[in-house]
Amino acid sequence: MNDLVIRNGKIIDGTGRPGFSGDLAIAYGKIVSVGGKAGPGHREIDATGLLVTPGWVDIHTHYDGQVAWDPYLSPSSWHGVTTLVMGNCGVGFAPVHRGKEAFLISMMDGVEDIPTATLTAGINSEWESFGEYLDALSRMKRVLDVGTHVPHCAVRAYVMGERGAENQAATPDDIAQMAAVVRDGVKAGALGVSTSRTLVHRTRDKAYVPGTFAGLDEVIGIGRALGEAGHGVYEIISDITGDDANLDWMARLSAETGRPISLAALISRRSGMKMREVLEFIERSNGNGARMMAQVGARPAGSLMSLQSSVHPFSTHRSYRQLMAGLTHEERVARMRDPNVRAQILNDAPAVKEEQTLAMVANFQHHFSLGDPPDYEPTADSSILERAKRMHRTPQEVAYDTLLERDGREIIYMPLAYKGYSFDGILPQLTNPNTVLSLSDGGAHCGVICDASMPTYMLTHWVRDRSRGERLPLEFAVRRQTYDTAKLYGLLDRGTLGPGMKADVNLIDFERLQLHPPEMVFDLPANGRRFVQRADGYKYTIVNGEVTFADGQATGAMPGKVVRGLQAPA
Ligand SMILES: [Zn+2]
Repeated sequence: MNDLVIRNGKIIDGTGRPGFSGDLAIAYGKIVSVGGKAGPGHREIDATGLLVTPGWVDIHTHYDGQVAWDPYLSPSSWHGVTTLVMGNCGVGFAPVHRGKEAFLISMMDGVEDIPTATLTAGINSEWESFGEYLDALSRMKRVLDVGTHVPHCAVRAYVMGERGAENQAATPDDIAQMAAVVRDGVKAGALGVSTSRTLVHRTRDKAYVPGTFAGLDEVIGIGRALGEAGHGVYEIISDITGDDANLDWMARLSAETGRPISLAALISRRSGMKMREVLEFIERSNGNGARMMAQVGARPAGSLMSLQSSVHPFSTHRSYRQLMAGLTHEERVARMRDPNVRAQILNDAPAVKEEQTLAMVANFQHHFSLGDPPDYEPTADSSILERAKRMHRTPQEVAYDTLLERDGREIIYMPLAYKGYSFDGILPQLTNPNTVLSLSDGGAHCGVICDASMPTYMLTHWVRDRSRGERLPLEFAVRRQTYDTAKLYGLLDRGTLGPGMKADVNLIDFERLQLHPPEMVFDLPANGRRFVQRADGYKYTIVNGEVTFADGQATGAMPGKVVRGLQAPA
């Protein structure tokens, strides 16, 4: 007798092959049979009209804080994610010396915009080594599987103390010690190591995170530790400048150690390569024995500016700050509707010097109403600037009134890299075999970004709704966030629906699958705020054979585990 039988679904099995109709049977947390007619089950679900897919494997998240207090790991779990990988981009909470946790918290606050008060209240650091950290995670219940990297920033601060935090050069002895920490962490079950080589990442006090300027001897040293451990991914976020400008060391290291490198390339004017050149380099290098993957997202990271966000076009105005101080959201909305207040704020100007923030609050040609349902690929003529021109008004006026729509909850969306006002440039990245679907950043950037919904967006936008250009086949889009992501991390027990595989499954009403606009909630420890985003259309999510969500409601089942190391195939 099967534990669970899903009848008559359209099975999209994660391998990329064409979907087919049939039953899926599950027993003891594993898939027993796929397709055809299955024998009876203790529980049966009629999946007529539903897609049956593997659970999503999201490899780029920052739930390192939230994992300590939230067994649901929302919003990713609301979007069909059944395995997530955190500890990306060099930041995380282990290893750590007792009493030094505050530095790692300041780093996570600065880099990922997760409030210090929230992290301090939410994390009970009862570990020192990375292995003890994994043990602590294993003692907690949760709704899905989590795996993590050893974060280089934490390792550097742990081994080198102040010298490490201040980005002084590592001695050969420091490097040997860091390599040992990484090796032990991976042997204890980490899925790899991660490092940050971008000037974008700062601590709360605006200092560059440890390892930003690490020499090649250091980054190669910890990469070789991965090679010695024999598994794990080297996750690197880089501005592609300096030692990284031509990516040579990464290709050589990967070929030498056999370990895959997963690169989040932050391309800017200063970068030594454009994204197209990065992809060409990786293709050449992989032909010569390297294993490099470029991380790509289903949409560019987008800043969400609303009256509840960290930043919006008027948030730095002195008048706004004075007039709105101490008010609740509802009171603020009411006061902003007062014509005198409106005039006063509109006559003022942003009080910021920092170029990046100024560009953000005043860049009206890249500001769009996100709307409901949200439109992440808007046309150029729908920007706030273009709309204002047509209406013979100032962009500030249009932005002001936009923020007040939907009871003051409308969002001004600013995609951070939106070439040609279209996603046509993203499409070849999504189909390139040397890329991996990534960058959802779940759990991070709480006050201004919410891209954890990317797995859902792959299906709604890229498979079904996109009207401005080519779309992707359903089977391919599913494979990108199941088989392909799981395989990179050696999680060969999941990512496809086949006999003996882990029973992580989504049942999706594809016609009804729909994103809601992101919304701000105040449910983090110490009343911290974060954007979340809901979706309709996930009928059931199943982890280890147990139904964790039914019709968007959590069932209370907590079958999630900490994934440690390589997972053997069925
Ligand atoms: Zn990241």
